[in-house]
Amino acid sequence: MTSKKIILKPGKEKSILHHHPWVFSGAVASSSGNPQPGETVEVLSSGGERLGWAAYSPYSSIRARVWSFDPDEVINEEYFYRKIEAAARLRTAINITKETNAFRLVHGEADGVPGLIVDCYPDVAVVQILSAGAEYWRDVLIDQVQQITGCKTVVERSDVEVRHLEGLPIREGLIRGENLPPRIKIEENGLHYWVDVIGGQKTGFYLDQRQNRKRIMALSKDREVLNAFCYTGGFTLCGLAGGARSVLSIDSSANALTLAAENLALNGFNPALNQWVEGNVFKELRTLRDRNKQFDLIILDPPKFAPTAAQAQKAARAYKDINLLAFKLLRNGGILVTFSCSGGLGRDLFQKIVADAALDAGVEAKIVEMLSQSADHPVALNFPESAYLKGLICVVG
Ligand code: SAH
Repeated sequence: MTSKKIILKPGKEKSILHHHPWVFSGAVASSSGNPQPGETVEVLSSGGERLGWAAYSPYSSIRARVWSFDPDEVINEEYFYRKIEAAARLRTAINITKETNAFRLVHGEADGVPGLIVDCYPDVAVVQILSAGAEYWRDVLIDQVQQITGCKTVVERSDVEVRHLEGLPIREGLIRGENLPPRIKIEENGLHYWVDVIGGQKTGFYLDQRQNRKRIMALSKDREVLNAFCYTGGFTLCGLAGGARSVLSIDSSANALTLAAENLALNGFNPALNQWVEGNVFKELRTLRDRNKQFDLIILDPPKFAPTAAQAQKAARAYKDINLLAFKLLRNGGILVTFSCSGGLGRDLFQKIVADAALDAGVEAKIVEMLSQSADHPVALNFPESAYLKGLICVVG
């Protein structure tokens, strides 16, 4: 049994007692046993109360991430197997395979495995290892993902900035199996998409938008649609499937647009109904405004402008800018479907930004629906940070 420990400052045990899994550096009074990056430490309150077991991360301001709040838990291979199996059971319980063959199997903290993301595509699992603790157990976790999913092929996409905060290098590529095809075909809500799990963004596809893409199908009939930040065409295809009159789809990534065009062809849609524009949305929206273009449905799904709270203010200006322009581009009775996936910006603030944008655009708008991430990206009740994707459907007029 480990004798490595961290002892919290007085009063700092409160969030752990509420099962919030992060221990910030400022909450730690001392450590003992010389814990190394990723090693398991016992977490103790200043009074010596045993609070659980965590992974130590000496370089991160999140100094430890709790594996288990049970003081009698043993953090070993069997522990992780149980967690990943439970995550798989949750996806079975929500009947995920009814709508897709590409889904998130493990969603980090919300599935009790901080720092581990696993996305499953047909025959290929893609892992992201984002914390020192998950890195420490890397080989065990990858073996278990293979065992539980039955995927021979595993790709790693640990090529995200947060690795640096944990003192970890970027790592990506094929790590198990061979003959990974350059693209994997997935099916989601009756549509097919090519996914590039090596060169694409995130793990290749924005799985978190699945249920919102389905909503777009229901809202597009006979509408002129603008899909800003279209990536590989998810909302574009859904618009066309829903009977949109036309779609204008904008993204700055040429690679994404290449795949998007192939996705359109893959589903047999008439390419004349959609126009791809490679460009900067901030600029393109202004150009459309200056040309007095109008739309009936606008989707804004930008990248994270505020990964952490530190960038919230700057991000707020960017969100306000694009939402204001979108409101101006909507006909009376038009619909704005607007998102923020910024962890550093809460739902209330996002709604306020959209409200200010409508005010400045001189339009009245109502929220008719609140959107969030797909069910395979669960939210731990005591870890509100896991509810990162916020969306609003607003009707103008
Ligand atoms: N809605 C998409 C996901 C969008 S992700 C889906 O369901 O699949 C955000 C996209 O914004 C990425 O494709 C990225 O290339 C693009 N992007 C980022 N900044 C941009 C900018 N300033 N102008 C245009 N596109 C941008």
